[in-house]
Amino acid sequence: MRTTNKYESFVSNVTKWGIDHLGVFPWRFCEDSYKILITEILLVRTSRDKVNAIWQDFFARFPTISALAKSTPSEISSIIHPLGLQRIRASQILELAIRLVEELDGIVPLNIDALARLKGVGQYVASATICFLTGEKTLVIDSNINRVIDRFFSGEDHDNYKSSMTILERILPLDNLDVRMFYFSLIDLGYEYCRRVPDCEKCVLRTSCSYNIHRH
Ligand code: SF4
Repeated sequence: MRTTNKYESFVSNVTKWGIDHLGVFPWRFCEDSYKILITEILLVRTSRDKVNAIWQDFFARFPTISALAKSTPSEISSIIHPLGLQRIRASQILELAIRLVEELDGIVPLNIDALARLKGVGQYVASATICFLTGEKTLVIDSNINRVIDRFFSGEDHDNYKSSMTILERILPLDNLDVRMFYFSLIDLGYEYCRRVPDCEKCVLRTSCSYNIHRH
């Protein structure tokens, strides 16, 4: 009989937890590439609660990439100011929208390299946008995801994402992996429990997590 390996077991526990606990955000399972791309840009170094607070207003005012491209930095800035660095971010977002409209007919490229090359996008946003839009198994790793994977498998907090990336490269090819559900669950689990000071007693991974096991 085939046994479940540690990667499958990790994915299963994380995803099962997510089924009952996943946070509800308007950009999750959204099918609009424009909205997902702009949301991922807004989420960079910004809390999801802050982005959530301005999300409806932003897309009510700029429902399409064309509407955004016709706006001004001050119009964008007036909506995103609670996120901070609003002037710089507004200019970058407007520049990106204009470029997408003028050079790519307003279509977000669904190729990581092509998307990442656009000014203001970058590797993480490109990878997350394509994964969360299409379900393609791309490498999506931020500080939250890194912390959970690193602690669970190595029992440590590394300064870089190297070991977590190696683990993710083994997880992504797994059969039957619902990659969006897996990543969303991982992000939420990290947000709820695996913070800088982790709350392991409440975490569903506590009995098999190297970090929790080694500290006792
Ligand atoms: S058991 Fe603790 S260290 Fe391990 S993933 Fe959960 S919160 Fe993080």
